[in-house]
Amino acid sequence: MDDERSSKRFETLAVAHGEEATPGAPDVGDVVSPIHLSSTFALPGLDTEMSLEDVDPSKGEFLYSRLSNPTRHALEERLAALEGGEHAFAFSSGTAAIFTSVLAVVEPGDHIVAFDDLYAGTRRMFENVFRDRLAVDVTFVDATDTENVADAMTDETTLVWMETPTNPRMKLCDLSAIGEVADAHDAVFGVDNTFMSPYFQAPLDLGADMVAHSTTKFINGHSDSIGGAVVTNDEAIADEVVFLQQVGIGDVLSPFDSYLVLRGTKTLPMRMREHEANATVIAEYLDDHELVDSVYYPGLESHPQHELAGEQMMGYGGVLSFELAGGLEDAKAFLERLETFTLAVSLGGVESLVEHPAAMTHEPVPREEREALGITDTLVRVSVGVEHVDDLVADLDRGFAALEERIATPK
Ligand SMILES: *Cc1c(COP(=O)(O)O)cnc(C)c1O
Repeated sequence: MDDERSSKRFETLAVAHGEEATPGAPDVGDVVSPIHLSSTFALPGLDTEMSLEDVDPSKGEFLYSRLSNPTRHALEERLAALEGGEHAFAFSSGTAAIFTSVLAVVEPGDHIVAFDDLYAGTRRMFENVFRDRLAVDVTFVDATDTENVADAMTDETTLVWMETPTNPRMKLCDLSAIGEVADAHDAVFGVDNTFMSPYFQAPLDLGADMVAHSTTKFINGHSDSIGGAVVTNDEAIADEVVFLQQVGIGDVLSPFDSYLVLRGTKTLPMRMREHEANATVIAEYLDDHELVDSVYYPGLESHPQHELAGEQMMGYGGVLSFELAGGLEDAKAFLERLETFTLAVSLGGVESLVEHPAAMTHEPVPREEREALGITDTLVRVSVGVEHVDDLVADLDRGFAALEERIATPK
């Protein structure tokens, strides 16, 4: 790690790291990185060797923007610093980041062990792309118990893929312990760190070999960009990701989106602190409410893995879920009455969002499997924004009033 990075704290790196003037560019004193829209770059001459292997963006060398681009490079430097890794790559979506980094470490005949409660899109990618089309076997396990991960490992396992906490039930897995299991089998350990962001969880420090993000969520934080990232310290993985991303697939983040995400990262620390402060108030409010059966938030003492959360996370995040009393129609009435919380999929933006997993994000998962994962008809997930918390609580009160009216009115 370079001296500048190791001597500065997260908040300082988040504001400026990577945005120093592009070497060789006219220095007009920009304090933010310009959006470099150029698709191609003039070469110094015919006799210079400028190939994919030779261009070095950190020296201000660029050839063609699919390979590397100054604005994307600035973002990649920033993300590497924040996640504590040597190499970062910015992708056109979180899905592209996960697909490309998984493809970098598996081939036909290999085996993946993954959490059974992954982001629904990742689960479908593993089943319908890697297993069905690329002959990579996949075993999903309840990774809340590390034993289940260890039991699923085979001689063919080349990748262990985890998320923690998961969505929407906020289940945790023990990153250090699972890292040791992966290591003992010479398997790569990949972690999707979208839910905590690098501000609240550092998987590379806990044994992960690569970390993926949907920057669409907390890292960008303003619900105005789809993007993803992969960060690693492993040279071999980095080389393979470079080849697949820049030559094999071309799923790079655009210069404009790179600029937006760079801007988003500047406020990541204070946004995360505010998301968490608001989520804590709301979790406690819901926990005390008589029309709520259960609340799932790692910051609550009642969370079965609260202790693990305290050990491996530096905060509890801004996402939580809860089960309402009643049935599906009651949950609908609650959701329809909300005004400040917007009914929408996605999470991690400054605005509060609410969603109903059984009818929205997890609707494609068969009912039986859904219920086994704890996704009932009255489970509601919220991404708590940075609005005034009293307004958020007042909004939930509106939802509960709708629920009370239904209970008071004979059906
Ligand atoms: C949203 C999300 C993804 C997918 O990212 P996109 O940017 O939507 O492609 C992957 N993992 C997690 C945990 C997510 O929340």
